[in-house]
Amino acid sequence: MGFVFDPPAQPALPVRGTNDLFPVHRVYCVGRNYAEHAIEMGHDPDKEPPFFFQKNPDNLLVGMDFPYPPASSDVHFEFEMVVALKSGGTNISVDDALSHVFGYGVALDMTRRDLQGEAKKMGRPWEVGKAFECSAPCSELVPASQTGHPAEGAIWLEVDGERRQDGNLNQMIWKIPEMISYLSGLFTLVPGDIIMTGTPAGVGPVQKGNKLHGEVVGVGTLDVTVV
Ligand code: MN
Repeated sequence: MGFVFDPPAQPALPVRGTNDLFPVHRVYCVGRNYAEHAIEMGHDPDKEPPFFFQKNPDNLLVGMDFPYPPASSDVHFEFEMVVALKSGGTNISVDDALSHVFGYGVALDMTRRDLQGEAKKMGRPWEVGKAFECSAPCSELVPASQTGHPAEGAIWLEVDGERRQDGNLNQMIWKIPEMISYLSGLFTLVPGDIIMTGTPAGVGPVQKGNKLHGEVVGVGTLDVTVV
């Protein structure tokens, strides 16, 4: 038995300091995980806890320019830390969660905010706003043996040299062990799953030509040009 056509390439992320690739299975994203960002989006973080959605693994973009997507005139940046899993399971306890972590990276959760807004208003799914081609520019991953498990530290993004997002990992409402534990109660986590851990306040639109530069101190940097 063979495939009726060649199977698609396995989405993967480079691992810093090696020639190895981390094969990506699913891309989970947490929404409204920083209180100030929830408030800027018009929500009350005390009444609405964070929640998850997904992007497609083949939406990841590594080492390339971000092409401004079709069907939108309001594409936003959301700069986030990424956690990558080397093992998984179901009903993982908070105490055991970090033992499943391979490492960390940084990424942009690029969002067609106008399409997401229409979807929210009509009670429809978010894919059109979140899961489009190249919507997840991502850095190389750094093994946790080099980063530790970052729970605090600056996370910031500049657009054309101007600071737009400026937060701290310690502002996350759901901490990383809680995210892994919660997700594993809903889905079977497997090696290769990654989680985009939410964005601090300051999100905004991009234009063609913008140069985005973000850093999570101690984890990594990301440089992306909008074309
Ligand atoms: Mn996001």
